[in-house]
Amino acid sequence: MLKIENLCVKIGDKEVLKDINLNIGVGETHVLFGPNGAGKSTLINTILGNPKYEVVKGSIYFKGKDITNMPMYERAKLGMGISYQNPPAIPGVKLKNLLNIISNREWNEIEKMAEILNFNDFLEREVNVGFSGGEAKRSEILQIYAQNPDFIMFDEPDSGVDVENVELIGNLINELLDKNKIPSDREKSGLIITHMGHILNFMDVDRAHVLYDGIIACSGHPEEILDNIIEHGYERCVECYQKKK
Ligand code: ADP
Ligand code: MG
Ligand code: MG
Repeated sequence: MLKIENLCVKIGDKEVLKDINLNIGVGETHVLFGPNGAGKSTLINTILGNPKYEVVKGSIYFKGKDITNMPMYERAKLGMGISYQNPPAIPGVKLKNLLNIISNREWNEIEKMAEILNFNDFLEREVNVGFSGGEAKRSEILQIYAQNPDFIMFDEPDSGVDVENVELIGNLINELLDKNKIPSDREKSGLIITHMGHILNFMDVDRAHVLYDGIIACSGHPEEILDNIIEHGYERCVECYQKKK
């Protein structure tokens, strides 16, 4: 689904990502850990093609196509979607209208999902205007559901979300990424950024990576990596980082 080779990215004069390699197969979901400022959001915004991020080296392939220089809307058309860490407010645009524009589903399906998310009352409201952090996350999940992309990136879908809604969001992400299907029937792939392991209790993820100072310091089994971070912080990852650097 997604293949990244030797990716180096700059924001302005600052080199944020240094030689990133990543391979996400069809049906696979990967998790990205890492301290604040490591470059996690930069990586997924670069994959999506946000022009603020300058690819100075390397390539990104999506569904076998080199998309490194492809504009964002074409990547979206190819089946890429994102749930933002801090989605912007869009005054004057009702959530309902936005959903209608981006949707690849029937309206009654979206209404049903809004009900599951306990979000019906928000459909008539302007997108993210006055939404709390947790409400904005549910709004993002609903938009992703409506768009129904094949590859979905979630930037901290659990931050600012209360315990009950973390379980709900975790379960929904799992479903959006085909994890309720048997492995041979899975067609979706995902990349999830999270600081807290709690949401992983409700999701089936295949592989984890730790991004440290713009380098993938280590990769492995999600539970092993998470246990390590809980026990040692990012100390062990720093050792790996020093070796790779
Ligand atoms: P993370 O998501 O891992 O917390 P980010 O990808 O948001 O980290 O940021 C990586 C680094 O890039 C940080 O040092 C951050 O300050 C810097 N950065 C992000 N956006 C900009 C910007 N628009 N201008 C300058 N530096 C930026
Ligand atoms: Mg952060
Ligand atoms: Mg971030």
